[in-house]
Amino acid sequence: MKISEILRQDRGSFSFEVFPPKKQEGFEKIERVVERLCRQHPSYISVTFGAAGGRDSHTADVAAFIRRQGATPLAHLTCVSYTRDELHRKLTELRTLGIENILALRGDLPAGMTPEDLPADRYRYASELTAAIRDFGGFCVGGACYPETHVECSHWRDDIDHLRRKVEAGADFLTTQMFFDNALMYRFLWRLRTADIQVPVVAGIMPITNAAQVARCRSLAGCFFPHRFLMLVDRWGDQPAAMEQAGVAYATEQIVDLLANGVTSIHLYTMNKPTVAEAILRNLSELLPPRT
Ligand code: FAD
Repeated sequence: MKISEILRQDRGSFSFEVFPPKKQEGFEKIERVVERLCRQHPSYISVTFGAAGGRDSHTADVAAFIRRQGATPLAHLTCVSYTRDELHRKLTELRTLGIENILALRGDLPAGMTPEDLPADRYRYASELTAAIRDFGGFCVGGACYPETHVECSHWRDDIDHLRRKVEAGADFLTTQMFFDNALMYRFLWRLRTADIQVPVVAGIMPITNAAQVARCRSLAGCFFPHRFLMLVDRWGDQPAAMEQAGVAYATEQIVDLLANGVTSIHLYTMNKPTVAEAILRNLSELLPPRT
């Protein structure tokens, strides 16, 4: 099913993100993760693509496995280090596997590469990849967006302007970068609406379950952490079980506040931890729309 149809149903959505294994040996493990997540009847499950600048590893295979479980997959696809021909081959592969949804991303410079190493005929921005996928035809296309402004963009107005181009190029919906202060999301939604960007926006929520993730979120995505959250890390950061429980409670509270304020599409960055996703869903059992 196309995610644009799911989001159009106006019942809200609850979805998960998983990342694929780097090597074939990890495939069985991700299959078990996906099977458990599917028991929660998510609206869809997204699969990252060579995150942190790496190249593709098994995204299409994991997406195909999700489809075989009867769930809707969303395959991420980055363009920064691929030629146009390589990307067109990937689109053909996804189509052959029956994948209908792609999150079109630029991606980041792979480790050890300089801009001079990148293919000259690449798509430079996600908006260009989005337009190419549209021309290819048959896919629902999503895009990334940044409530705190993308780290490379010096002014939020420029970032919103670039985002508008992405939507005009054909993005059907947007998924946010993780954020830990809902006020940032509400301000961002206001900015989108005043810029007349009207596509559905899915809120990306990351349950932080260990202290190391805080440093990673800061360095990779420039995330702001409210004092209230940092106090939890200070208190329980060196006690894994306690930190996981506090992280689940914080993410739950964030989602409750979003739902209460009309943000009804939630995407959980599961970090391949079904126990965390299950705990959050238990906490929200009466608040989320029924999923079949
Ligand atoms: P773009 O939309 O192209 O934007 C990148 C930068 O360029 C921004 O600063 C933007 O303002 C600027 N820009 C855009 N258009 C123009 C223009 N025409 N002229 C000048 N500047 C412009 N990374 C992975 O490697 N794999 C993944 O699976 C993955 N999944 C993600 C999922 C989500 C929901 C999010 C939010 C991010 C994800 N990322 C992933 C990270 C993403 O690849 C990086 O944040 C990357 O730096 C930007 O990607 P983008 O698609 O947002 O790029």
